[in-house]
Amino acid sequence: MVKISLVEKGSPADKAGLLAGDSIISINGNPINDGLDYYFYTTDRRLIIEAERDGKPFTLKLSKGEYDALGAEFDSYLITKQKRCRNNCMFCFIDQNPKGMRESIYFKDDDERLSFLHGNYVTLTNLSDEDIARIIKMRISPVNVSVHTMNPELRCTMMGNRFAGKCLDYLTQLSEHGIAINAQLVLCPQINDGKELVYSMEQLYKLKSLQSVSAVPVGLTAHREGLPKLRLFTAEEAAAVIKTINEFTRLPLKEKGVRMFYASDEFYLTAGIPIPPEDEYDGYPQLENGVGMLRCHREEFMWALEGAAESHINPTAQKVFVATGYAAYGHICALAEALTAEFPQVDCRVFAVENRFFGNTVTVSGLVTGGDLIEELKGAGNCDKLIIPCNMLRSEGDLFLDGVSLKEAEARLGYPIEVAEKDGADLLYKLLNISEEDIV
Ligand code: SF4
Repeated sequence: MVKISLVEKGSPADKAGLLAGDSIISINGNPINDGLDYYFYTTDRRLIIEAERDGKPFTLKLSKGEYDALGAEFDSYLITKQKRCRNNCMFCFIDQNPKGMRESIYFKDDDERLSFLHGNYVTLTNLSDEDIARIIKMRISPVNVSVHTMNPELRCTMMGNRFAGKCLDYLTQLSEHGIAINAQLVLCPQINDGKELVYSMEQLYKLKSLQSVSAVPVGLTAHREGLPKLRLFTAEEAAAVIKTINEFTRLPLKEKGVRMFYASDEFYLTAGIPIPPEDEYDGYPQLENGVGMLRCHREEFMWALEGAAESHINPTAQKVFVATGYAAYGHICALAEALTAEFPQVDCRVFAVENRFFGNTVTVSGLVTGGDLIEELKGAGNCDKLIIPCNMLRSEGDLFLDGVSLKEAEARLGYPIEVAEKDGADLLYKLLNISEEDIV
């Protein structure tokens, strides 16, 4: 049973007479106990709702008509508390945050409901047999799983959880019921790479419903006091990981026509190996894990650049700064070069921001703070505008990870900041001061 905190005016729930304070007991005969139950069972158009008001049960029959949502709201998105992870992973990034940040930064979620609703990755270590049965019953698919290794003992060690190995059995169970699985392997040098990586790929490939697997290198900050000793991949080791994965992909490529196993962009950057062409990413199934992000971004940018040239766009002369992390610096510089070859009136200068906040081993743009951005650019002179990627800002607003606001950064630097969306075309549009509609 879940208690409604607000009913949206004019919504199907409002029209049917549901009120804030009412509790929903079941929908179409299915008990409603949390956000997943609610969102899942309100996808039907015709609903029979068993509810309760002041302890008295009543039944409503309603059709959602042209509405997608029922229109009832709850105190929190998941209605019940978000599930916390029960692990203590040796590579956990949350443990490597500097002290004194916002409380929410330190929250370790591991909630299968968010896997369904938002595509979050889960470890399966805090699921009960009932939770697995519910995933199967609801056909929640795909389930995105942080696997790390298919060796049960090693998984327990890496995840600091003695049940982490046993939970791998759930993968087989889900697969046997046709629940699609995407997996992620965070690799640590000399721990779960090499032969362990081959073993993990072999075992994962046995899962009939496996869709894709990404391998990402461990990320280490300068804040690892008291944490297990770990190191970053060397260029040679990163190259070896790529080779191991590429050799393995021959099998799925032959049998299924797709590679299924992918090394993340970071492995290519560390190894100094060019990012593969687009057709080697099979439609980018693991983009959110940093697999093919640079390739996809480049293709989108070049496509838009070609369109802008064909449309005879004539941008005004301007000086633009673009900021990124060290990892994508070469990539953005190559795009800037292509831009100025076509539009020399746009003077584009690219800056790699050193990560002083987390330590200089952290090179991704998504972890660049406002303080570090200001520090990097403060002596660089003036420009007409600065462009930053959207992942430098937190999803909840115009704030950098360290709490510095976009406005504050603009005031400190003395020029406007524009935020480029993930799509590479948007970076091009911002550099040329145009919109998609200007391209004919
Ligand atoms: S599952 Fe591991 S990496 Fe993820 S939050 Fe928990 S401890 Fe950290």
